[in-house]
Amino acid sequence: MRTHKIAAIPGDGIGTEVIAAGLEVLKTAAARDGGFTLDVETFPWGTDYYLEHGRMMPEDALETLKPFDAIYFGSAGDPRVPDHVSLWGLRLAICQPFDQYANVRPARLLPGIEGPLRGVTDLDWVIVRENTEGEYAGAGGRVHQGHPEEVGMDVAVFTRAGVERVQRFAFELARTRPAKHLTLVTKSNAQRHGMVMWDEVFAAIKGDYPDVETDKVLVDAMTTRMVLKPETLDVIVATNLHADILSDLAAALSGSLGIAPTANLNPEARYPSMFEPIHGSAFDIMGQGIANPVGAFWSAVMMLENLGEARAAANLMQAIERYTGAGEDMPRDLGGQATTKQVTQAVIARLEGRN
Ligand code: ATP
Ligand code: MG
Repeated sequence: MRTHKIAAIPGDGIGTEVIAAGLEVLKTAAARDGGFTLDVETFPWGTDYYLEHGRMMPEDALETLKPFDAIYFGSAGDPRVPDHVSLWGLRLAICQPFDQYANVRPARLLPGIEGPLRGVTDLDWVIVRENTEGEYAGAGGRVHQGHPEEVGMDVAVFTRAGVERVQRFAFELARTRPAKHLTLVTKSNAQRHGMVMWDEVFAAIKGDYPDVETDKVLVDAMTTRMVLKPETLDVIVATNLHADILSDLAAALSGSLGIAPTANLNPEARYPSMFEPIHGSAFDIMGQGIANPVGAFWSAVMMLENLGEARAAANLMQAIERYTGAGEDMPRDLGGQATTKQVTQAVIARLEGRN
């Protein structure tokens, strides 16, 4: 029997609620499959840990995480700590050193979910976000802090190697899909250094993928295209910042932030990859048991795929879609009243073949 070691980091806010639900669903998925077990260890890192220890996770956290096969992450952020502290102290503190450079974010209209585009067209995209450099490289600085003459700089840092590897990843992904289409998103008219390099790298490597059709859009035009011509898009590759914004839009177009999943991949598997719902801690609803766990479940599907458990992944995705398509009560972000627990039980019932 195969065993996969999973590090669960629920983090803050509704992250703790949806990861608990996701672990229950994963346990059922493994039991139903029968071919593998999950050895889960949970790490209570996040804002409570920060308030006690002055850091979001222990100093040796990366050493602790390294032997795991995957990381299942909730969210980082809490009103008691500035957002940039929690983000840099936990999520980015794992993504960057573990070289999880390909952030993969599928967006699809699941059965039964009313996105704004339902009835207009179908939507089936994968956004590939560069995840280790660019606008979130952390470069920049502030001088004369607090004074009228203060200067603040956030510098986007792109390396040719970093750009090429994420673009190649996106080409490889596009080739596995029926449409075999890849859209490059940049802002190379206004930003004339790194963004132009993105365009040049794309032009230089696309000949290696003759089976993939390509096009190029500026990020501002991309927002309108996603809304007005969504059927012209398939796989999308963009920088850290641009893809961050576009994937929130994609999540809204597919129904709700609450259903959207993401995988932070280290494709070479030198380090564990990390799987998480794209939503944040959602303080407005935390502790009420009403968070939508579907984003965490779909992230669990991506984790199972990455662990090589394709059959269990497909079964879990099917259970999710059979629940959303059944016309039962949905969670609040999708216009219903269902609690986290009810959604979890509904998906588990499908997994167990009881519904
Ligand atoms: P972060 O800064 O951590 O990304 P955010 O302020 O962008 O957080 P989110 O927490 O991602 O905000 O979500 C925005 C709003 O969407 C939440 O306040 C909440 O009302 C709603 N929301 C997000 N995720 C869910 C979910 N899983 N279930 C229900 N509602 C959700
Ligand atoms: Mg956000």
